[in-house]
Amino acid sequence: MKTIDFRSDTVTHPTPAMRTAMANAVVGDDVYNEDPTINALEAMAAAKTGKEAALFVASGTMGNLTAILTHANRGDEAIVGIDSHTYKWEAGGMATFGGIIPHPLPTDEKGRMDAAMIKTAVRTDDVHYPNSRLILVENSYGDRGGYPVPLDYFAAVRQIADENGLSVHMDGARLFNAATALGVPAAAVVKDVDTVSFCLSKGLCAPVGSLLCGSKAFIHKARRIRKSLGGGMRQAGILAAAGLIALDEMSRRLAEDHALAQRLAHGLAAIPAIIVQPALVKTNIIFFDLADTVPLSSDEAAAQLEARSGIKIMSDGGRGFRAVTHYWVDETAVDTLLSTLSDIVS
Ligand SMILES: *Cc1c(COP(=O)(O)O)cnc(C)c1O
Repeated sequence: MKTIDFRSDTVTHPTPAMRTAMANAVVGDDVYNEDPTINALEAMAAAKTGKEAALFVASGTMGNLTAILTHANRGDEAIVGIDSHTYKWEAGGMATFGGIIPHPLPTDEKGRMDAAMIKTAVRTDDVHYPNSRLILVENSYGDRGGYPVPLDYFAAVRQIADENGLSVHMDGARLFNAATALGVPAAAVVKDVDTVSFCLSKGLCAPVGSLLCGSKAFIHKARRIRKSLGGGMRQAGILAAAGLIALDEMSRRLAEDHALAQRLAHGLAAIPAIIVQPALVKTNIIFFDLADTVPLSSDEAAAQLEARSGIKIMSDGGRGFRAVTHYWVDETAVDTLLSTLSDIVS
Protein backbone atom coordinates (compact mmCIF):
# COMPACT_ATOMS: atom_id res chain seq x y z
CA MET A 1 0.00 0.00 0.00
CA LYS A 2 1.26 3.46 -0.93
CA THR A 3 1.77 5.92 1.94
CA ILE A 4 -0.02 9.26 1.55
CA ASP A 5 1.31 11.79 4.00
CA PHE A 6 -0.99 14.57 5.24
CA ARG A 7 0.97 15.25 8.45
CA SER A 8 2.70 18.36 7.14
CA ASP A 9 3.84 20.19 4.01
CA THR A 10 7.40 19.64 5.31
CA VAL A 11 7.13 16.07 3.96
CA THR A 12 7.14 17.32 0.35
CA HIS A 13 9.94 15.93 -1.80
CA PRO A 14 11.70 17.98 -4.48
CA THR A 15 10.04 17.90 -7.91
CA PRO A 16 11.75 16.29 -10.93
CA ALA A 17 12.58 19.79 -12.25
CA MET A 18 14.28 20.59 -8.94
CA ARG A 19 16.38 17.42 -9.06
CA THR A 20 17.55 18.29 -12.58
CA ALA A 21 18.38 21.86 -11.56
CA MET A 22 20.27 20.59 -8.50
CA ALA A 23 22.35 18.20 -10.60
CA ASN A 24 23.30 21.02 -12.98
CA ALA A 25 23.74 23.85 -10.46
CA VAL A 26 26.73 26.16 -10.85
CA VAL A 27 28.25 26.55 -7.37
CA GLY A 28 31.00 28.41 -5.49
CA ASP A 29 31.99 29.13 -1.90
CA ASP A 30 29.09 31.05 -0.43
CA VAL A 31 31.06 32.15 2.64
CA TYR A 32 33.08 34.22 0.09
CA ASN A 33 29.77 35.28 -1.57
CA GLU A 34 30.91 33.32 -4.64
CA ASP A 35 28.03 30.91 -5.19
CA PRO A 36 26.15 32.34 -8.20
CA THR A 37 23.07 30.17 -7.61
CA ILE A 38 22.74 31.32 -4.01
CA ASN A 39 23.33 34.92 -5.09
CA ALA A 40 20.52 34.56 -7.65
CA LEU A 41 18.18 33.06 -5.06
CA GLU A 42 18.92 35.83 -2.56
CA ALA A 43 18.29 38.47 -5.23
CA MET A 44 14.98 36.86 -6.18
CA ALA A 45 13.91 36.65 -2.52
CA ALA A 46 14.71 40.32 -1.96
CA ALA A 47 12.74 41.27 -5.07
CA LYS A 48 9.71 39.15 -4.15
CA THR A 49 9.54 40.56 -0.61
CA GLY A 50 10.34 44.13 -1.61
CA LYS A 51 13.33 44.22 0.77
CA GLU A 52 16.86 45.36 -0.12
CA ALA A 53 18.66 42.09 0.54
CA ALA A 54 18.27 38.45 1.55
CA LEU A 55 20.26 35.66 3.18
CA PHE A 56 19.96 31.92 2.48
CA VAL A 57 19.77 29.90 5.71
CA ALA A 58 19.39 26.22 6.50
CA SER A 59 15.90 26.31 8.00
CA GLY A 60 13.02 28.49 9.14
CA THR A 61 14.21 28.14 12.71
CA MET A 62 17.68 29.34 11.72
CA GLY A 63 16.13 32.25 9.82
CA ASN A 64 14.13 33.36 12.83
CA LEU A 65 17.02 32.86 15.26
CA THR A 66 19.44 34.73 12.99
CA ALA A 67 16.90 37.56 12.70
CA ILE A 68 16.27 37.76 16.44
CA LEU A 69 20.00 37.71 17.30
CA THR A 70 20.62 40.41 14.70
CA HIS A 71 17.87 42.67 16.03
CA ALA A 72 18.40 42.17 19.77
CA ASN A 73 21.21 41.87 22.33
CA ARG A 74 21.52 39.93 25.59
CA GLY A 75 19.03 41.20 28.15
CA ASP A 76 16.73 42.64 25.49
CA GLU A 77 13.09 41.61 25.41
CA ALA A 78 10.99 40.40 22.48
CA ILE A 79 7.19 40.68 22.55
CA VAL A 80 5.81 37.50 20.98
CA GLY A 81 2.58 35.51 20.60
CA ILE A 82 2.34 32.81 23.26
CA ASP A 83 1.48 30.14 20.66
CA SER A 84 3.73 31.52 17.92
CA HIS A 85 6.37 29.32 16.32
CA THR A 86 9.29 31.46 17.52
CA TYR A 87 8.13 31.18 21.13
CA LYS A 88 6.68 27.69 21.31
CA TRP A 89 8.27 25.53 18.61
CA GLU A 90 11.91 26.65 18.29
CA ALA A 91 13.37 25.03 21.40
CA GLY A 92 13.76 28.36 23.18
CA GLY A 93 16.63 29.38 20.89
CA MET A 94 16.29 33.12 21.44
CA ALA A 95 16.92 32.67 25.18
CA THR A 96 19.42 29.82 24.86
CA PHE A 97 21.69 31.40 22.25
CA GLY A 98 20.86 35.08 22.52
CA GLY A 99 20.00 35.73 26.16
CA ILE A 100 16.87 37.40 24.80
CA ILE A 101 13.83 37.38 27.06
CA PRO A 102 10.57 36.48 25.36
CA HIS A 103 7.54 38.43 26.59
CA PRO A 104 4.64 36.22 25.48
CA LEU A 105 1.15 37.66 24.94
CA PRO A 106 -2.09 35.80 24.11
CA THR A 107 -3.33 35.82 20.52
CA ASP A 108 -6.84 35.87 19.10
CA GLU A 109 -8.50 33.41 16.69
CA LYS A 110 -6.62 35.04 13.79
CA GLY A 111 -3.18 34.96 15.40
CA ARG A 112 -3.14 38.60 16.53
CA MET A 113 -1.86 40.01 19.82
CA ASP A 114 -4.03 42.78 21.24
CA ALA A 115 -2.67 46.25 20.37
CA ALA A 116 -3.39 47.64 23.84
CA MET A 117 -1.60 44.68 25.43
CA ILE A 118 1.43 45.18 23.19
CA LYS A 119 1.58 48.84 24.24
CA THR A 120 1.39 47.86 27.92
CA ALA A 121 4.07 45.21 27.42
CA VAL A 122 6.60 47.77 26.14
CA ARG A 123 8.92 48.61 29.05
CA THR A 124 9.57 52.08 30.31
CA ASP A 125 13.16 53.14 30.99
CA ASP A 126 13.52 51.71 34.49
CA VAL A 127 16.65 50.04 35.87
CA HIS A 128 14.58 47.05 37.02
CA TYR A 129 13.30 46.14 33.57
CA PRO A 130 14.73 44.34 30.58
CA ASN A 131 14.96 46.52 27.50
CA SER A 132 12.10 46.15 24.99
CA ARG A 133 13.66 45.70 21.55
CA LEU A 134 11.57 43.62 19.19
CA ILE A 135 8.04 42.54 18.24
CA LEU A 136 7.68 39.11 16.63
CA VAL A 137 4.71 38.39 14.37
CA GLU A 138 3.76 35.43 12.17
CA ASN A 139 1.89 35.02 8.87
CA SER A 140 0.29 32.60 8.09
CA TYR A 141 -0.24 31.67 11.74
CA GLY A 142 0.60 28.00 12.26
CA ASP A 143 -1.25 27.40 15.51
CA ARG A 144 -4.42 28.91 13.98
CA GLY A 145 -4.55 26.41 11.16
CA GLY A 146 -2.37 28.59 8.95
CA TYR A 147 -4.76 31.52 9.19
CA PRO A 148 -3.72 34.41 6.91
CA VAL A 149 -3.45 37.27 9.40
CA PRO A 150 -5.23 40.43 8.13
CA LEU A 151 -2.82 43.14 7.04
CA ASP A 152 -4.25 46.03 9.08
CA TYR A 153 -2.86 44.25 12.17
CA PHE A 154 0.70 44.73 10.93
CA ALA A 155 0.08 48.41 10.28
CA ALA A 156 -1.03 48.75 13.90
CA VAL A 157 2.03 46.81 15.14
CA ARG A 158 4.26 49.01 12.97
CA GLN A 159 2.87 52.13 14.56
CA ILE A 160 3.49 50.84 18.10
CA ALA A 161 7.02 49.79 17.11
CA ASP A 162 7.78 53.21 15.60
CA GLU A 163 6.45 55.04 18.65
CA ASN A 164 8.75 53.00 20.88
CA GLY A 165 11.88 52.47 18.78
CA LEU A 166 11.29 48.72 18.33
CA SER A 167 11.93 46.49 15.32
CA VAL A 168 9.41 44.03 13.88
CA HIS A 169 10.31 40.59 12.52
CA MET A 170 7.81 38.36 10.75
CA ASP A 171 8.07 34.58 10.83
CA GLY A 172 6.68 34.03 7.34
CA ALA A 173 7.43 30.32 7.10
CA ARG A 174 4.31 30.08 4.90
CA LEU A 175 4.43 33.65 3.60
CA PHE A 176 3.30 32.66 0.11
CA ASN A 177 0.31 30.74 1.50
CA ALA A 178 -0.67 33.91 3.35
CA ALA A 179 -0.17 36.07 0.25
CA THR A 180 -2.19 33.66 -1.90
CA ALA A 181 -5.07 33.57 0.59
CA LEU A 182 -5.04 37.35 1.05
CA GLY A 183 -4.88 37.86 -2.73
CA VAL A 184 -1.88 40.20 -2.59
CA PRO A 185 1.83 39.93 -3.54
CA ALA A 186 4.19 38.74 -0.79
CA ALA A 187 5.74 42.22 -0.67
CA ALA A 188 2.38 43.64 0.46
CA VAL A 189 2.21 41.13 3.33
CA VAL A 190 5.62 42.24 4.64
CA LYS A 191 5.57 45.96 3.91
CA ASP A 192 5.05 46.91 7.58
CA VAL A 193 7.76 44.65 9.04
CA ASP A 194 11.50 45.28 9.05
CA THR A 195 12.48 41.69 8.34
CA VAL A 196 10.86 38.43 7.28
CA SER A 197 11.98 34.83 6.97
CA PHE A 198 10.18 32.31 4.78
CA CYS A 199 10.62 28.59 4.08
CA LEU A 200 11.34 26.96 0.73
CA SER A 201 10.99 23.52 2.25
CA LYS A 202 7.27 23.42 3.09
CA GLY A 203 4.55 23.88 0.48
CA LEU A 204 7.16 25.14 -2.00
CA CYS A 205 8.70 21.61 -2.11
CA ALA A 206 12.41 22.43 -1.94
CA PRO A 207 14.35 19.88 0.12
CA VAL A 208 16.11 22.43 2.38
CA GLY A 209 16.30 26.12 3.04
CA SER A 210 14.79 29.42 4.07
CA LEU A 211 15.47 33.06 3.31
CA LEU A 212 15.82 35.96 5.70
CA CYS A 213 15.05 39.32 4.05
CA GLY A 214 15.60 42.90 5.21
CA SER A 215 17.68 46.03 4.66
CA LYS A 216 21.23 45.80 3.28
CA ALA A 217 22.69 46.82 6.64
CA PHE A 218 20.59 44.23 8.48
CA ILE A 219 21.53 41.38 6.15
CA HIS A 220 25.22 42.36 6.35
CA LYS A 221 25.06 41.96 10.12
CA ALA A 222 22.91 38.80 9.87
CA ARG A 223 25.53 37.15 7.63
CA ARG A 224 28.02 37.28 10.52
CA ILE A 225 25.41 35.90 12.97
CA ARG A 226 24.61 33.08 10.54
CA LYS A 227 28.33 32.22 10.41
CA SER A 228 28.50 32.14 14.21
CA LEU A 229 25.57 29.72 14.29
CA GLY A 230 27.40 27.38 11.92
CA GLY A 231 25.26 28.36 8.96
CA GLY A 232 27.95 29.24 6.41
CA MET A 233 27.16 26.47 3.92
CA ARG A 234 29.83 26.72 1.15
CA GLN A 235 28.62 25.08 -2.14
CA ALA A 236 24.98 25.17 -1.08
CA GLY A 237 24.01 26.38 -4.54
CA ILE A 238 23.02 22.73 -5.04
CA LEU A 239 20.18 23.52 -2.60
CA ALA A 240 19.55 27.03 -3.89
CA ALA A 241 18.94 25.59 -7.36
CA ALA A 242 15.88 23.82 -6.01
CA GLY A 243 15.01 26.95 -4.06
CA LEU A 244 14.89 29.07 -7.23
CA ILE A 245 12.23 26.77 -8.70
CA ALA A 246 10.40 26.73 -5.37
CA LEU A 247 10.32 30.52 -5.16
CA ASP A 248 9.71 31.29 -8.83
CA GLU A 249 7.25 28.54 -9.78
CA MET A 250 5.90 26.66 -6.77
CA SER A 251 4.93 29.87 -4.95
CA ARG A 252 2.35 30.51 -7.72
CA ARG A 253 0.37 27.26 -7.37
CA LEU A 254 -0.57 27.32 -3.67
CA ALA A 255 -4.22 28.10 -4.45
CA GLU A 256 -4.45 24.45 -5.54
CA ASP A 257 -3.40 23.30 -2.06
CA HIS A 258 -5.91 25.69 -0.51
CA ALA A 259 -8.74 24.37 -2.71
CA LEU A 260 -7.84 20.83 -1.65
CA ALA A 261 -7.93 21.95 1.99
CA GLN A 262 -11.45 23.30 1.38
CA ARG A 263 -12.53 19.96 -0.07
CA LEU A 264 -11.13 18.20 2.99
CA ALA A 265 -12.62 20.64 5.51
CA HIS A 266 -16.09 20.49 3.98
CA GLY A 267 -15.90 16.71 3.72
CA LEU A 268 -14.94 16.47 7.39
CA ALA A 269 -17.81 18.77 8.33
CA ALA A 270 -20.20 16.26 6.73
CA ILE A 271 -19.04 13.48 9.10
CA PRO A 272 -21.22 13.76 12.26
CA ALA A 273 -18.52 12.38 14.61
CA ILE A 274 -15.96 14.99 13.52
CA ILE A 275 -15.75 18.57 14.80
CA VAL A 276 -14.24 21.07 12.37
CA GLN A 277 -14.69 24.74 11.49
CA PRO A 278 -14.33 25.04 7.71
CA ALA A 279 -14.71 28.82 7.94
CA LEU A 280 -11.33 29.01 9.71
CA VAL A 281 -9.59 27.04 6.94
CA LYS A 282 -8.11 29.65 4.58
CA THR A 283 -4.81 28.09 3.54
CA ASN A 284 -3.50 24.49 3.63
CA ILE A 285 -3.81 23.42 7.29
CA ILE A 286 -6.91 21.80 8.82
CA PHE A 287 -7.32 21.19 12.54
CA PHE A 288 -10.20 18.92 13.57
CA ASP A 289 -11.37 16.85 16.55
CA LEU A 290 -13.23 13.69 17.41
CA ALA A 291 -16.66 14.24 18.93
CA ASP A 292 -17.06 13.01 22.54
CA THR A 293 -19.26 10.16 21.28
CA VAL A 294 -16.33 8.45 19.52
CA PRO A 295 -14.88 5.68 21.74
CA LEU A 296 -11.36 6.10 20.32
CA SER A 297 -8.45 8.43 21.02
CA SER A 298 -7.04 10.47 18.14
CA ASP A 299 -3.91 8.28 18.28
CA GLU A 300 -6.04 5.14 17.85
CA ALA A 301 -8.10 6.65 15.02
CA ALA A 302 -4.94 7.86 13.23
CA ALA A 303 -3.34 4.40 13.57
CA GLN A 304 -6.45 2.79 12.07
CA LEU A 305 -6.50 5.31 9.24
CA GLU A 306 -2.91 4.46 8.36
CA ALA A 307 -3.43 0.69 8.66
CA ARG A 308 -6.51 0.74 6.42
CA SER A 309 -5.56 3.30 3.77
CA GLY A 310 -1.86 4.17 4.13
CA ILE A 311 -2.86 7.74 5.01
CA LYS A 312 -0.91 9.53 7.72
CA ILE A 313 -2.30 12.51 9.64
CA MET A 314 -0.99 14.19 12.78
CA SER A 315 -2.66 13.24 16.06
CA ASP A 316 -2.29 15.33 19.23
CA GLY A 317 -2.61 12.35 21.57
CA GLY A 318 -5.97 13.56 22.89
CA ARG A 319 -8.96 14.22 20.63
CA GLY A 320 -7.38 16.41 17.94
CA PHE A 321 -5.80 16.01 14.51
CA ARG A 322 -3.96 18.11 11.95
CA ALA A 323 -3.95 17.49 8.22
CA VAL A 324 -1.99 19.59 5.72
CA THR A 325 -2.48 19.67 1.95
CA HIS A 326 0.47 20.02 -0.43
CA TYR A 327 1.79 19.31 -3.93
CA TRP A 328 2.08 15.54 -3.41
CA VAL A 329 -1.52 14.87 -2.35
CA ASP A 330 -4.58 15.03 -4.59
CA GLU A 331 -8.39 14.85 -4.61
CA THR A 332 -8.35 11.05 -4.64
CA ALA A 333 -6.19 11.05 -1.50
CA VAL A 334 -8.55 13.53 0.20
CA ASP A 335 -11.58 11.42 -0.70
CA THR A 336 -9.90 8.24 0.57
CA LEU A 337 -9.05 10.00 3.84
CA LEU A 338 -12.68 11.13 4.22
CA SER A 339 -14.30 7.77 3.46
CA THR A 340 -11.87 5.78 5.62
CA LEU A 341 -12.12 8.15 8.58
CA SER A 342 -15.89 8.17 8.28
CA ASP A 343 -15.91 4.36 8.56
CA ILE A 344 -13.57 4.43 11.57
CA VAL A 345 -15.54 6.96 13.63
CA SER A 346 -19.09 5.93 12.70
C1 LIG B 1 8.01 25.28 9.98
C2 LIG B 1 7.90 26.60 10.62
C3 LIG B 1 9.04 27.29 11.07
C4 LIG B 1 10.42 26.67 11.10
O1 LIG B 1 10.88 26.10 9.96
P1 LIG B 1 11.91 24.87 10.01
O2 LIG B 1 12.47 24.90 8.63
O3 LIG B 1 11.11 23.65 10.33
O4 LIG B 1 12.94 25.17 11.04
C5 LIG B 1 8.87 28.55 11.58
N1 LIG B 1 7.64 29.09 11.69
C6 LIG B 1 6.54 28.47 11.29
C7 LIG B 1 5.23 29.15 11.43
C8 LIG B 1 6.62 27.20 10.75
O5 LIG B 1 5.52 26.56 10.36
